[in-house]
Amino acid sequence: MQTFYRDSWVEVRLDAIEYNINQLKQHIGKDKKIYAVVKADAYGHGDTQVAKAALDAGAAALAVSLLDEAIRLRECGFTCPILVMGWVRPQDASIAAEMDISLTFFQEDWIKEVKNLDLANPLKLHMKWDTGMGRLGIRSVEEMQVLLKEVQEDERLILEGIFTHFATADDSDAAYYQEQQKRLGEMLTEFKALWQDQVNVHTSNSAASLRYPGNEEDFVRFGISMYGLYPSPVVKGERQIELQPAFSLHSRIVHVKKLKEGECVSYGATYCATEDTWIATVPLGYADGWIRRLQGIDVLVDGKRRPIVGRICMDQFMIELDKEYDVGEQVTLIGRQGDEEITADEVAAYLDTINYEIPCMISERVPRVYK
Ligand code: PLP
Repeated sequence: MQTFYRDSWVEVRLDAIEYNINQLKQHIGKDKKIYAVVKADAYGHGDTQVAKAALDAGAAALAVSLLDEAIRLRECGFTCPILVMGWVRPQDASIAAEMDISLTFFQEDWIKEVKNLDLANPLKLHMKWDTGMGRLGIRSVEEMQVLLKEVQEDERLILEGIFTHFATADDSDAAYYQEQQKRLGEMLTEFKALWQDQVNVHTSNSAASLRYPGNEEDFVRFGISMYGLYPSPVVKGERQIELQPAFSLHSRIVHVKKLKEGECVSYGATYCATEDTWIATVPLGYADGWIRRLQGIDVLVDGKRRPIVGRICMDQFMIELDKEYDVGEQVTLIGRQGDEEITADEVAAYLDTINYEIPCMISERVPRVYK
């Protein structure tokens, strides 16, 4: 394990990743397979560690957003199928072929450029369909016909999969999801008439699979649920399966002092004690991803909620204590102490954002410790 000399760390429970994969496996049934989505350093949890735990627990393949992320996994020894779900420069398809990394495609110019490359190995491709996300993908059967013809003409190209992505599967209103599902059904019918070879179809992310079980096709791309978080409060409320959060964030008090009435804390002196008050300094700040807008949120000390007071600095913030504590006392920013818990959902709600952003925003400067 990497040595570090600071008293702030993320704890990642790999047993929770494995538990969640097992729950998800049971949820989708034996005939469907799992892409573990480990883009963005596995949503801030650590790509190689999560990838290994997910594969050990039964995920069949890995999915990332960038070619760089896929290459890193290959170079770290992962031999399973790896799909890049984002757009890759066509000239970089040769390195993908060389490393047996599957790429996403949906543009005629792109495939033509790739066909001009000198490919050392066959290139595996997944065709992306835009059924309503409005992000990447073909939008018509005509485009599909053109692309399939291009692939058919070149034996170095292997159509391994087709996929789409839902925009609103985590909403309580199912109408837009149903529209996308209908569009998908129409395109699949056309596709099957044009293409007889076996391909893997994958359409659902966590929300789509949890809320619409049975619609998933061959593979499911699980991200947030694998990390133990629900995709939205709506999905959490429905609780189709129990998940265990893998991510927690901790630090330790480095300094304790008693402020007298009228004495203030941090830049701008936005907090001043109204009576004698114990204040502690915690060595984590906005450069670690604990951004200034988190001023005022609680942390846990000795199993109790204590508020962050004054402005959060680049490397430190201050909290108000209920009594004197020793230097070294543990502070939990996300996670549990005794009966109290601060969840990523709570932090997300405080920031008026989604829980996905919370582990992603804790910077690389905070070491990840694996349990
Ligand atoms: N599929 C695609 C194309 C994605 O972009 C993502 C993540 O944003 C996922 C699957 C995983 O989604 P989730 O984390 O909601 O399961």
